[in-house]
Amino acid sequence: MIYILLFILGTIFYSFSYCVSYRIIHHLNFVSDHSRCEYCDHILNWYDLIPIISYICLKGNCRYCDHPILRNHLYIEILGGFITLILYIKYNLLCFIIYEIVGMILFICAYIDYKELVIYDVFQYILMVLGIIKCIVFYNNMKWIVIYILIICVPLLLLALLKKQSIGMGDIYLYASLCLILNNQIILCFIISIYSSLIVCLYLLLTKRLSLSDPIPFIPFIYIGYLVCLMI
Ligand SMILES: [Zn+2]
Repeated sequence: MIYILLFILGTIFYSFSYCVSYRIIHHLNFVSDHSRCEYCDHILNWYDLIPIISYICLKGNCRYCDHPILRNHLYIEILGGFITLILYIKYNLLCFIIYEIVGMILFICAYIDYKELVIYDVFQYILMVLGIIKCIVFYNNMKWIVIYILIICVPLLLLALLKKQSIGMGDIYLYASLCLILNNQIILCFIISIYSSLIVCLYLLLTKRLSLSDPIPFIPFIYIGYLVCLMI
């Protein structure tokens, strides 16, 4: 029963995270603006916004204009359910709460980066604070965290200074926060994010959907690295 409840909670959390990123990208107010259909702009009722259930009941179409709803909504909600469930099974309660919140924030940052190639400072501050809290609560060895930051962030910083637009400062700050949050798992997260980005870029270059001068959103790959290193 608890697993079903956690899966449902996960779908709600990630539906909320998607909503936050959508509202930031479209400059919508969090309090006064209602959720609307992306196609006909009709205000959506609460029963149109139930994760997974609404999509199935409406057969994937908007209730008001009948336009097909992007399947991404459904996939994000299902993914959120599984992520939440796996993190709960693998980690103790406090770690689970921190990893879940960090995962949601990284998801929001990844989605905004994918759409707009920016990262907002407020999310960096929240991640840094969460990292410090985790270090204090779990008495993490600061010596190793400093070593991880030196191994990962310093070379990236040099790369950013030597070759302009090679990597954003936002990505480097994000890795620094993740050193605090993930501790020794940061190495695996870093390797997965670098290799997954290389594979995707190579594929896009070979299929001519990307040129060498195009900017690439990197936070989605950091998010992939974060998820994979926590799940395996
Ligand atoms: Zn509509």
